[in-house]
Amino acid sequence: MLLEIEDVSLLYGRIQALHGISLTVDEGEIVALIGANGAGKSTTMRAISGIRPVASGRIKFAGEDITKLRADLRVRRGLCQAPEGRGIFPGMSVLENLDMGAYTRRDKAGIAQDLARVLELFPRLAERRKQAGGTLSGGEQQMLAVGRALMSRPKLLLLDEPSMGLAPMLIQQIFTIITEINQQGTTILLVEQNAQQALARAHRAYVLETGRIVKSGSGTDLLHDPSVKEAYLGVA
Ligand code: ATP
Repeated sequence: MLLEIEDVSLLYGRIQALHGISLTVDEGEIVALIGANGAGKSTTMRAISGIRPVASGRIKFAGEDITKLRADLRVRRGLCQAPEGRGIFPGMSVLENLDMGAYTRRDKAGIAQDLARVLELFPRLAERRKQAGGTLSGGEQQMLAVGRALMSRPKLLLLDEPSMGLAPMLIQQIFTIITEINQQGTTILLVEQNAQQALARAHRAYVLETGRIVKSGSGTDLLHDPSVKEAYLGVA
């Protein structure tokens, strides 16, 4: 198992956002986390990437207990989050932004290889490689954020709402790219409002409700689950 979360709770002051969450991600999988606004999806990602400390429970990554490990050290171990929203460097060019993604690495040849791959995955970024990140369109910035995360060559890529704010055509595109990234060997944990697409692409998925996991199964099973359909897919 690449990632194992066991009975994790998380507090924001006196507000309990996660109530004993357990989930796993196996090597090679795309796992999706779906749920309504405020269910705790982003909070779960923050616990995994180490941006917020957990109140109790355990997080294991690649066989190692990382519950108390600093966020930057988690990145070095291969756990990388492309942030919700964009979080790119607006004053830096596309290429400089991508370079920043590889800051923990020293293998020049590998970095060059990954840069070529990212530019191939995102032709739009290749066209705009000299342009300042802050002047890219919203969708392009989203792609840059995913590309930058890939530059760290993560073992596990955490994607928080990669389709947020994208036009329908770009949503299709980003999900196709996510599948491609996975097929090239990167394990992915994905948080999405767009449950339809996420479940269609994921090997397995978990449903979060008010800080608890209420359902899990294969993407296909959940896509056809009546209660999931009603609550998250907009079909009764
Ligand atoms: P959305 O889809 O709307 O982004 P989400 O499932 O990602 O929702 P979270 O952002 O994880 O939900 O929020 C879970 C709960 O924790 C919410 O009730 C939210 O108000 C609360 N929360 C999140 N961040 C903080 C914070 N920094 N301080 C206090 N409460 C917070």
